[in-house]
Amino acid sequence: MIVKRFLATLAPEAKRIRMDVVLHLGQEDYAAQGARTVEPGWHAFYAPYTKVEEVTLPPLEEGHAVHADKLEKIQKETQPPKRYTAASIIKALESKNLGTKATRASIVQTLFDRNYLSGKSIQVTPLGLQVEQALEKNVPEILSEAMTRQFEEEMEAIEQQKITKDAVVQDGREELEKILTQFKEKEGPIGQELVSALRQTQSAANVLGPCKACGKSLAIRKSQYGFFVGCTGYPDCRTLYPLPREALIKPLNKICDSCGTPTVSVHRKGKRSFTMCLDPKCKTKENWGQKPTTPASTPGSSTVSSAATKPSLAPSFSPTATSPGSSAASASPAPFSKPLSKPRRRAAPKTPPESSTPRIDYGD
Ligand SMILES: [Zn+2]
Ligand SMILES: [Zn+2]
Repeated sequence: MIVKRFLATLAPEAKRIRMDVVLHLGQEDYAAQGARTVEPGWHAFYAPYTKVEEVTLPPLEEGHAVHADKLEKIQKETQPPKRYTAASIIKALESKNLGTKATRASIVQTLFDRNYLSGKSIQVTPLGLQVEQALEKNVPEILSEAMTRQFEEEMEAIEQQKITKDAVVQDGREELEKILTQFKEKEGPIGQELVSALRQTQSAANVLGPCKACGKSLAIRKSQYGFFVGCTGYPDCRTLYPLPREALIKPLNKICDSCGTPTVSVHRKGKRSFTMCLDPKCKTKENWGQKPTTPASTPGSSTVSSAATKPSLAPSFSPTATSPGSSAASASPAPFSKPLSKPRRRAAPKTPPESSTPRIDYGD
């Protein structure tokens, strides 16, 4: 594609003929548009990436009377716009002149990291939505595209030495001070509005699926030794599973085909994420890494040790108990793609071929 694009920039212009037809019928006007290529020019080099449609209309002249053979009523529904993807949201920022080439990708990544967005086909989390609503209500200036754009433009002006840095900094400081004072005043209500959404988002992220033993939900819990999975039916149900350490666990809302225990995806810094069944005894984990060294990893079979005096939800849980799960876990990472990969920069010619297309307009 890069080669084709390069060649296309050197190729002659393409010529297309466009025809707009308006037909008067009864009280209404009906429009039709035709367009066809007469000289392919650079299109020939850029194919199949050239996106032009050939619509040939019958030869018509202004003032022509045409006969309507058939009248047809067609009901159509418009499609809602597609959700943004990592790539298309960056494009949208670009077209709105928000952010710079260097910052756009990290702006979007931050939204994912803070749990405001999720998914490949991007969805706003309840937390993200609530943050937006709370800010909109209390300090709408923070969300102002115009202000962001203005700063962006001023930065550029500094770069081009049209304006001094001091003037911009002074201006910016005044504006930000105004907004932050306003924010500080409304901190209380903003916080309150966010708490419930945060809880909702957190608990949604913590619930991993139904417990095999009792049917209640399994959720990520924290003990003094770290995170583990426990049944929300505790103390009636004492189902426990270890979690790999120093990893971010995300629910997959999918049950293991082999044993019926919920599965999760495991994300570690600098490592490929993978999916696994929560049950360390599951058949799918039979050949994972070395053999577990402590039988304590089996929920229920471990002995109550020093933690017995603590009112912790997982008194039988010790740090060694998690290690078989975690060492085994890192041994067989399955491919699992990240929600947002770094966007590749494309080599775009200075003058895109599209803009060199002349248009010959025939009549109206
Ligand atoms: Zn249970
Ligand atoms: Zn399983």
